[in-house]
Amino acid sequence: MTRIIWKKIREELILPYLQLDIKYYDLGLEYRDETNDQVTIEAANAILEHKVGIKCATITPDEARVQEFKLKEMWKSPNGTIRNILGGTVFREPIILSRIPKPIPGWVNPIVIGRHAFGDQYRSTDFVAPGPGKLQLVYTPADGKAPTVMDVYDFKGKGVAMSMYNTDESITGFAHSSFKMALSKKMPLFMSTKNTIMKKYDGRFKDIFQEIYESQYKDAFEKVGIYYEHRLIDDMVAQAIKSSGGFVWACKNYDGDVQSDILAQGFGSLGMMTSELITPDGDVIESEAAHGTVTRHYREYQKGNETSTNPVASIFAWTRGLLHRAKLDGNEELKKFCLDLEAACVETIDKDGIMTKDLALAIHGKAMKREHWVVTDKYMDAVNAKLQKKLVEGTT
Ligand code: NAD
Repeated sequence: MTRIIWKKIREELILPYLQLDIKYYDLGLEYRDETNDQVTIEAANAILEHKVGIKCATITPDEARVQEFKLKEMWKSPNGTIRNILGGTVFREPIILSRIPKPIPGWVNPIVIGRHAFGDQYRSTDFVAPGPGKLQLVYTPADGKAPTVMDVYDFKGKGVAMSMYNTDESITGFAHSSFKMALSKKMPLFMSTKNTIMKKYDGRFKDIFQEIYESQYKDAFEKVGIYYEHRLIDDMVAQAIKSSGGFVWACKNYDGDVQSDILAQGFGSLGMMTSELITPDGDVIESEAAHGTVTRHYREYQKGNETSTNPVASIFAWTRGLLHRAKLDGNEELKKFCLDLEAACVETIDKDGIMTKDLALAIHGKAMKREHWVVTDKYMDAVNAKLQKKLVEGTT
């Protein structure tokens, strides 16, 4: 579904207004299959070269998709492939609407959440102990020195165990991406761990962030009136719920997995959540909507039924990517266009009450009627009309 929306955004909201030399990479499943997924690698390298990538949601194939598209292989997630080549951290940010009631009404400003997508539970080795026995952890140095053997537990019966890791290199990259994101948003940064329990493991995250902050970012943060603080994850969750938003939250891998879904719900709709991958040097940005291809709506579209998929996060994928381009090139006009387009999206909903079904449902719940929402095309046409008005007003 997003691919259909994407075409309209590109052809009606972007290309008529901007002269862009776009390098286009088709990450549709058919073409990924045809190129043995080389196109994804080429796309990632092009993002590195040009420093901006604007991506439409893509399908990560499962068994059913392998059958449906007659794929040669169950190709990996393009997002994973791109992230492995670019490095960096993915930050999600909600687009705030005043008209939509939020489950957490206090969240009037965005909370930008970054997830350290490397290591920890996601690369762990876990194990079911079949019966009584001794569990040990062994570290064997590569330089031939004596191994360190740590006793972990003496099982008296059946149980489970897990060993996980992270690296200074990855934590350092995560820290730089987080500091750079906070600076670009001009919002304070919090990084959460459970270092009271995992003194060495989480302590290492805390120490690396603190050291990098003090030696490389503190001055720049103070200049724009922001700060960095480490928080215990439980304190952080409590603080986030009570806050009015307006901060960047750097999460460890598992916490980020859980908390980013809480935020998506807390701010209303997945259709209003953007996603930006930023490299540790802050130079390269890949931007997309946080949601997927919205297959459920596509099945309706295939049947010829009307569809009302929210295009806002996909439009913001363009504006956030182009805002980075504007920053790199010092292009004020491009920046103004992007901000006008973002404002047009929000005002069409907030001021004119023209919106897609997901948002109407968030407002009216079970009392929602057909007249409360419009199909995707109608919403986008209203945004385009508002954008044109803004552009004309801006030149007079
Ligand atoms: P999805 O995000 O596409 O949709 C899940 C549900 O959320 C939808 O059924 C719909 O109810 C709601 N929703 C999401 N975006 C919406 C929008 N813009 N407007 C209105 N409602 C919206 O997730 P899914 O259905 O689990 O996955 C579909 C496909 O997308 C899968 O093939 C998956 O691999 C892929 N995917 C891609 C990305 C990505 O490229 N970044 C992310 C997630 C999923």
